[in-house]
Amino acid sequence: MRSIDIDVLVIGAGPSGCVSASILHQSGLKVLVVEKEKFPRFVIGESLLPRSMETLERAGFVDALKQKGFQEKFGAKFVRNDEVCDFNFSDQFTKGWNWTWQVPRADFDLAISQELQKKGVEILFEHTVTGIEFKGSDSTTTITDKDGNTILVNAKFIVDSSGYGRVIPRLFNLDKPSNLPMRKTVFAHISDSNRLQYAEPNRIIVVVVKQDIWVWLIPFSNGNTSLGFVGDPEFFKGFEGANTEEQLWNMIQSVPYLKERFAGQQFAFTPRTIEGWSVTTEKFYGEGFVLTGNVTEFLDPIFSSGVTLAVVSGEKAANIVIKKLKGEAYDWEQDFMVPTQRGVNVFRSYVMGWYDGTLQDIFFAANTKLEFKNQICSVLAGYVWDETNPFVKKHDKLLKTLSDVIKVQAS
Ligand SMILES: Cc1cc2nc3c(=O)[nH]c(=O)nc-3n(C[C@H](O)[C@H](O)[C@H](O)COP(=O)(O)OP(=O)(O)OC[C@H]3O[C@@H](n4cnc5c(N)ncnc54)[C@H](O)[C@@H]3O)c2cc1C
Repeated sequence: MRSIDIDVLVIGAGPSGCVSASILHQSGLKVLVVEKEKFPRFVIGESLLPRSMETLERAGFVDALKQKGFQEKFGAKFVRNDEVCDFNFSDQFTKGWNWTWQVPRADFDLAISQELQKKGVEILFEHTVTGIEFKGSDSTTTITDKDGNTILVNAKFIVDSSGYGRVIPRLFNLDKPSNLPMRKTVFAHISDSNRLQYAEPNRIIVVVVKQDIWVWLIPFSNGNTSLGFVGDPEFFKGFEGANTEEQLWNMIQSVPYLKERFAGQQFAFTPRTIEGWSVTTEKFYGEGFVLTGNVTEFLDPIFSSGVTLAVVSGEKAANIVIKKLKGEAYDWEQDFMVPTQRGVNVFRSYVMGWYDGTLQDIFFAANTKLEFKNQICSVLAGYVWDETNPFVKKHDKLLKTLSDVIKVQAS
């Protein structure tokens, strides 16, 4: 049986794994990435946040991505009937990137994985991790290729960036339910030849259907737009259809804005369904491994936080692995677990505030102060670690307080 000896094994070549592998490789460590699929492959998560750009730049990916002509994204627009709340990242409170991209992830993930290979990192595509044995922090991982051949990988450390695959939590029973309720989505890519008559393509548009039901519209530079209904699974039972295509089409017909904009348009693939995506683990690290990206926790698509949290956690984890393998002092709890959870928890407050209506009260109020809007804009740009922003520092209290003040002023 073939065996490979390396410093760090990275599981998964999504954004989190590619960023981690690139940072590790820059430090001189010998890295191997193992990826179950053949790229390009479909994955959801298409609207990025400006904060991700800092990390993508440090990982050495931004120049290559600029060549790909992805749709630039400058903001986020929320629409409820005739009410519109538009955030421009250039107005945000935090100093940082004020733009990013909207990307078909098959193309984006292919681009960063190719760039990683160009930098000299080996990626074994169509190889699946099927077992791991730890001896202290050293490990032997069993990987199987598409023909059933087995390879053993001996590593000093493992970064598990396997996204929805959740390799280490599943192998070692570490999963823990999230505190968010079960939600569902039906989505597709759809042609959008009328887009310029309706909205700017350079932002995500969130259309509110009901307080807890919303639609994402993410225009791409290839002329298609990603469209997905999200919310309580009960809502979807109200839409009959022989298949997901009919069901999604019926849902589009039920929202006047969508009915008009997408009249006569075609789905680029059969609409897909995902249900129940929120899951987490007790700890994001252990002896010999760290979890990054979606494996740590994925909350909800409403504020497009997934890829940003994935790349930021990938970078943070890589920096600590480098310290550990170079014999320097490191502290997983303080330098990884605490900041990773801090960012997730800021987004969690905003996700909860969205579904309980608090944030919608703020977004669609005529009297929300510009200063507050710009501070909230920074959270929507992914700057959830900027503690000088009161809407980050007091994320759990300030949204409710502001919505109460707005209601009193309006009454
Ligand atoms: C409905 C919905 C909408 C979303 N919209 C957005 C959005 O607009 N913006 C955003 O930022 N995020 C969004 N997300 C979240 C986004 O999908 C994820 O957060 C993001 O893809 C996480 O990246 P990652 O690198 O951690 O994992 P992934 O991108 O999932 O990559 C993990 C890789 O690991 C590989 N893998 C899995 N198991 C194994 C194994 N056993 N062996 C080897 N390889 C393995 C997989 O094939 C995959 O390529 C959305 C999520 C959902 C559910």
